[in-house]
Amino acid sequence: MTRTEKLLAELIALPSVNPAFLPPRHPNAGEKRVADFLAATAARAGLDVEFQKVLPGRSNIIARLLPKNKIKQTILLAPHLDTIGADGTKFIPQRKHGRLHGRGACDTKGSAAAMLAALCELAESKSRPQETEIIFAGLIDEEHAQAGSRAFVGQASRLSLTFWKKGDRRDAGPMVLAIVGEPTKLQVVTAHKGSLWLQLETRGNAAHGATPQLGKNAIYEMARVVEVLETDYAEQLKKRKHRLLGAGTVNVGAICGGTQPNIVPDRCTISIDRRTLPGETENGVRREINLLLAAKRLSAKISRAKLAPAPPLETDFRLPLVQSFLRSVEQSRPAGVDYFCDAAVLSAGGIPSVVFGPGDIAQAHTADEWISLAELERGKNRLVRFLNSLS
Ligand SMILES: [Zn+2]
Repeated sequence: MTRTEKLLAELIALPSVNPAFLPPRHPNAGEKRVADFLAATAARAGLDVEFQKVLPGRSNIIARLLPKNKIKQTILLAPHLDTIGADGTKFIPQRKHGRLHGRGACDTKGSAAAMLAALCELAESKSRPQETEIIFAGLIDEEHAQAGSRAFVGQASRLSLTFWKKGDRRDAGPMVLAIVGEPTKLQVVTAHKGSLWLQLETRGNAAHGATPQLGKNAIYEMARVVEVLETDYAEQLKKRKHRLLGAGTVNVGAICGGTQPNIVPDRCTISIDRRTLPGETENGVRREINLLLAAKRLSAKISRAKLAPAPPLETDFRLPLVQSFLRSVEQSRPAGVDYFCDAAVLSAGGIPSVVFGPGDIAQAHTADEWISLAELERGKNRLVRFLNSLS
């Protein structure tokens, strides 16, 4: 069994379900067990370890490998620590036919294991970059509100201070690249879509169900709005294509209106999930929906249905470090993915970010989550090769 596989099996056996998906004080909730375990593993390999407190009982774990000389730049390896929920059997790792099964195997404990194993390997060997500091940042809460990555970029400038207290007086360098761990089948991903949740509301006038002609039915109005979204708006979105991501999408995910059959409803709401392309903004999306509805003589009040915005990601693949990462994994062109992740948050915070990790998103969030062990090991090896190539 390789170190990476052993590490992953141990991570799967430590439940770290995002508390947002469980009742209060559930024993499987929270990232603390995983963060403590990774901290101990990193410390044994000789890395400096620090916790960044984010929410009560929930901290990012940060481990640092210093370069041989003065720090010129800093690179981040940033997987998330939380998973979605699962029944108890999914926290017992099962090895079958070259695969490891269990909650988090590919999303994203596989990336966490490959990244930390790569960093430990460097720390224990004599080889390490001359001037590039490497930081492993295990982030909490990606699956819910990305509190971990948001706190990390909020306090990145203070990280040097916390490490400073630990005795080494070298400040962290400018963060020139974050490799965010998610299952990309070991493809370097430079773009992903954003997710914008909006609520649309139609208003009518209530009346007795026996005399509907005296009222205005908000559900009828919303039915027409939904049809416009499904047909005209979806068609409009298909025409706007991104080189790596294709077209944006819209999904009407929930509808609510009226109280009982004999009352003409005066209010109806829907919630939509609009997957956005780089360059599209919330205001732009609101404007184009309003324009389309107005052209059909319809109107709906639009408001935000989720507090934390999930912006799209687009990192310039011509950046020298992105180019050398692509070369070291033998990939000619960067890739794009549909799903949102911490990379967009780090990128919006000023750290150029790409997504990379073993496993396939098709197995993420499923009842039987697994990862190919050969791919897991390959991921670790590619990271070691890239990190070793840094100056
Ligand atoms: Zn993930």
